Order: sequence, then structure tokens, then C-alpha cells
Amino acid sequence: MSDLAGMPGDFCEAHAVDEDGFVTITTDYPDYRPFMIYAENTEARKELFLCFHSRAYPKNEDVLKKMIARRQELARLLGYDSWADYVMEDKMIKTSSAVQNFIDAIDAQARIPAQRDYDALLAEKRLMYPDATEVEEFEKSFWEERAKRRNFNFDSLAVRAYFEYNKVQDGLLALTEELFGISYQRVDDAVVWHSSVDVFDVFRAEKNIGRIYLDMHPRVYKYKHAAQFTLQSGVAGIQLPEGVLVCNFSDPSTSSPALMDHDQVTTFFHEFGHLLHHILGGAQEFIYFSGVATERDFVEAPSKFFEEWEMDAATLKRFAHHTETHEQIPTGLVECMRAADEFGKGLFVRRQMVFAALSLHCYNRRATDPEISVHDLGVLDQTQYGQFPHTEGTYHECSFGHLDGYSAIYYTYMWSLVIAKDLLSKFPDHDMMNEVETRAYARSILEPGGSKDAADLVKDFLGREYSFDAFNTWLAT
Ligand SMILES: [Zn+2]
Repeated sequence: MSDLAGMPGDFCEAHAVDEDGFVTITTDYPDYRPFMIYAENTEARKELFLCFHSRAYPKNEDVLKKMIARRQELARLLGYDSWADYVMEDKMIKTSSAVQNFIDAIDAQARIPAQRDYDALLAEKRLMYPDATEVEEFEKSFWEERAKRRNFNFDSLAVRAYFEYNKVQDGLLALTEELFGISYQRVDDAVVWHSSVDVFDVFRAEKNIGRIYLDMHPRVYKYKHAAQFTLQSGVAGIQLPEGVLVCNFSDPSTSSPALMDHDQVTTFFHEFGHLLHHILGGAQEFIYFSGVATERDFVEAPSKFFEEWEMDAATLKRFAHHTETHEQIPTGLVECMRAADEFGKGLFVRRQMVFAALSLHCYNRRATDPEISVHDLGVLDQTQYGQFPHTEGTYHECSFGHLDGYSAIYYTYMWSLVIAKDLLSKFPDHDMMNEVETRAYARSILEPGGSKDAADLVKDFLGREYSFDAFNTWLAT
């Protein structure tokens, strides 16, 4: 069988056979992800999986060991038992033991949903291999894609026709104007670093409250991911907040129509959520509390929450119009998209807890047992928190960049999701255009920036302490 069997046509075109008869597939995401989803050759997928999860092995083993040891040393000099204790002190969660409790609580909630997801993948596999008794970790994406197609009749390629870049951008700006009582005014004479950058001043009740820069399309040597960056933090009466969105979506000036994948639209909303937080929270007395300068385990919550608008049929119908027929995106298609998106969340949550546990344990367990290697910790955490056993021959820790940048706080992703699901509980009947609640949300959560503890911001909005209930309900259904 050709190793490219099952791959989409555009992927095959971009990966031509060289003069020796080989095709080069790298471990970069644009190669790795589609290959693990679509390639029909099981052995080829396994080989790529092993390569991907051995990146930077063995070279980074020693780097990791030294980095963790040095951080422990620094934390001890400051009087902490471990780096994890030091780094949690100014977070919403406060202590490393609370992080351990959080991981265990989430894991307990995720076991049944994850088993349900695993069984669905095994059932899908048995349609092709009736005697199959297990699904290995490297096969997850492949069977998941097939199960989604069969169960939800969702074709991710077909939905692209509803997401033309200009319409999405205009729709997002119009939506946020309505939701938050603001308006945007294009600035043509701003100094920009590239002619494709769009600049808008943001107004509320005729008053300029900040400026946004949208650098949205790929070009040579540009940052390849999607992120919001601060150009200037706002200080009340002194300077206005300015923020930049850097993304890499289809460019209407070079491709017509410039279509987006649904997950790119989600990314657009997510990053725009950070940008709004930066602007709306940018009128603080002190620069240290301006905009997104909240506790780091809270900062993703408003953006995760903002994704909810993007999954709402009524909101999407405003701008998701078919590029040829101009028809609004059908509610049924949005429902299929949402169901497909939610499929596999039990497995996703357990995998996230493997990462959160390793991130924590590198910086606390190693404080008491410096002899145990990061790899061994990873195997132990995979065994305890993972739905799949550790795959021999993989060394994920060597390319797990968060062990550097996030150190012990990988849990923050799931923590933010728990808070985001709780925020959603304030919107009756999932009415995302409810004006009373959206304005209250902006006032209580976004506008104070980091001037209050995040737990108090959430309490101001919800009228109670935050809870896990909404997240647990979401995970169980
Ligand atoms: Zn984010």
C-alpha cells in the first residue's frame, strides 16, 4: 500500500515523490496532524508517531534535568519547599497541593466519559477489524475521524464554504460592537510594520478607549502561530491600551475565496477574546493590573468563554454565509459541527491531566526524589492518568515545551475551561445575545483587568463562588 493512501489530494500535491521515489513527511504539525488522521497505512502512522514523540530525544534529557534542578535551587533559596510551591503562590489556585487535588478531581470525573470515547473508537475499529481488542494511542486520531464522520455526518471540508475570511472578520467586529456597546473605526494612517495590517480605533460612547492591530495573514518569516500581543498597556488618564492580533489565516488578497477551517474560526474568536480583554480592561490606575494582567491560571478563561459565541447557531448565522449560494449556515450543520467537536472530550480531558500531572510532578516530586528521571515520571503519570498505556520508544517530555515556559502550571488550561463553563451557566437557555448578561460580564470580568483577584471577579459576575458543576455536567453528557 502506498504510504500516502487516504491522504487528501492537496496534501499529496504538496508532497511530491522525489527522484529516489520517496515522499518526505516531517514532524511539523501541517504534516503530522493530517497524516495521523487520514493515512491508511497503520505501520507508517505508527512510525511517524514514534518520531513525533521522540523529538529532541535524547538531547533535551540533560537540559530538562538541569533546568528543573536549577529552579528547585532558586525556589529553596527563596524559602519554598519546591518550585511548584513558589510558582503557585500568585495563582488563583494558590498551592501545589490544590493543583494535585484539582488533577485528581478532574481525572475522577473524566474516567467514565473517556472509557465511553475509547469504546466508541474500538467499535469503529471493529467495523474494519472484527477481532480487534484494543486501540493504541497512535491510532486515536484515525479512528476518531472515522467515528465522527459516521456518527455525526460532519464533513469538515464542506463547512469551509461558510467561512470566508472577510465575512468572518466583519461579522466578529459587528458582533462585539453589539455585545459590548463599542464601535470600531478604521485608521488608515497608522504606522504599521506591514501593509496588510488593519488598524481600528475602539470607541465607547464616542470616547476612544484603545486601538487594535490585525495582522492576520501569512507571509515569509512571520510568526507561524496565532496569538494576541500587547503593544501598549492602558493606564487610566495616561495612555490607551493597544493590542495586536497575529494569525495566519487565508489571505483574500491572494486567494479567492479565502476560506477558513472551522477550527481557525474558533482560534480567531479565542485570540480576539484576549484582545477585547486587553482593550476593555485597559483603564486601570496601575499598569500592572491592565487588561489581561490577571492571575495566569485565569487569563485563558475569558477567551475560552468567548469561543461559546462561535459555536452558537444564532451568532454564526449573522456572518457564516455560503460563498456561492449566500445561504446562512443551517442550524443542523452547526449542531453536527458542535457534536463532532465535543466527541472525544473524555479522552481529551484525561490526556490533558497526564500533561498537567507531569508538569506539576517535575517541579514537586523531583524536589523530594531528585533521582527519578523526567521520563520515568512521565511513564508513571501516563499509567495513572492516561486512558492509553505508555507507548514504548516515546519520549514526549523531551519536546514538551511547556515544561520550560509553563513549568508546573500546565493545569491552567483545564482550570480556565472549568471557569469558562461556569460563566456560561449565567446565560439562560444558552442565549448568547442576552444583553443584560453580556454587559454584566464585561463589567464584572473584563473591565476590571487584574485589579481584583480573579475569584472575586467570577463571584461578582456569578453572584456566588465558582464551582465545578457546569464543567462536570458538560463532561458527562
Ligand atoms: Zn489563549
